Amino acid sequence: MQWNNKNVVITGGAQGIGFVIASTIAEKGATAVIIDFNGDSAAAAATKLEEQGLKGCSYVCDVTDESAVTATFERIIGDLGAIHGLVNNAGIIRDGLTIKIKDGDITKMPLHQWQSVIDTNLTGTFLCGREAAYHMIKGENEGVIINISSLSRSGNLGQCNYSAAKAGVAAMSVTWAKELSRFGIRSCAIAPGFVITPMTSSMPENILDKITSAIPLGRIGKPEEIAQAAVMIFENSYINGRVIEVDGGLRI
Ligand code: NDP
Repeated sequence: MQWNNKNVVITGGAQGIGFVIASTIAEKGATAVIIDFNGDSAAAAATKLEEQGLKGCSYVCDVTDESAVTATFERIIGDLGAIHGLVNNAGIIRDGLTIKIKDGDITKMPLHQWQSVIDTNLTGTFLCGREAAYHMIKGENEGVIINISSLSRSGNLGQCNYSAAKAGVAAMSVTWAKELSRFGIRSCAIAPGFVITPMTSSMPENILDKITSAIPLGRIGKPEEIAQAAVMIFENSYINGRVIEVDGGLRI
């Protein structure tokens, strides 16, 4: 994909990996269209891009809300004319064991703890991917969809909700390549290992040290390294239907 005059939507783009992807593609010359839960932080992120002379704009939207997602993508088309790329990045963690035993008490993971993670990470990715593909096909323009999966898609202790969602995201990326390539739309996933962002920096230091010691490269990843993988997928028109692992060699 050539970058000039291209509009790339990044969900959860107000901070963390999403914001770094937004600024990296804006530096390439595209317009970074930031979608986020929190309108103030989304607007602040777009302003930060504009202050650097880059093209950015923001829309407030909860990716789990079907009518809000549909309306937001319609607004983007109304404002910008076309969508050429989507990075499905919005995600949350709500870790816990499926069954927990503490002081002789057996407790179960509540359904809402499971559901909230499935809703944001999996259903949100489906809804935004569906709307982006619809508008790309309707507008007869080629496009690229990148879904952010995770190393945890292989199954990770304390993350049954997140692992299931991220495995679904990886499978959906391959499915979309099979369904959408004939319309000129490529679809891939990126599966990061541990990356320093607001999501992970709140973890206790001893846990972060333990994780770091298991990473063959001996350090946690940087959001810029995930953004580099996204740029590679956007720019290389023969990468399609694959999950690109960016994890320092860590296996769980
Ligand atoms: P952050 O928590 O730093 O950022 C996520 C962003 O998504 C926030 O701005 C958040 O908004 C937004 N968001 C959350 N829920 C919604 C929603 N329903 N609708 C719209 N926006 C929403 O996360 P990271 O940057 O760490 O992670 C980005 C992606 O990378 C996620 O999909 C994550 O699962 C994945 N990933 C991260 C790894 C890591 O180590 N950091 C490792 C592997 C994968 P708000 O803050 O207002 O809630």
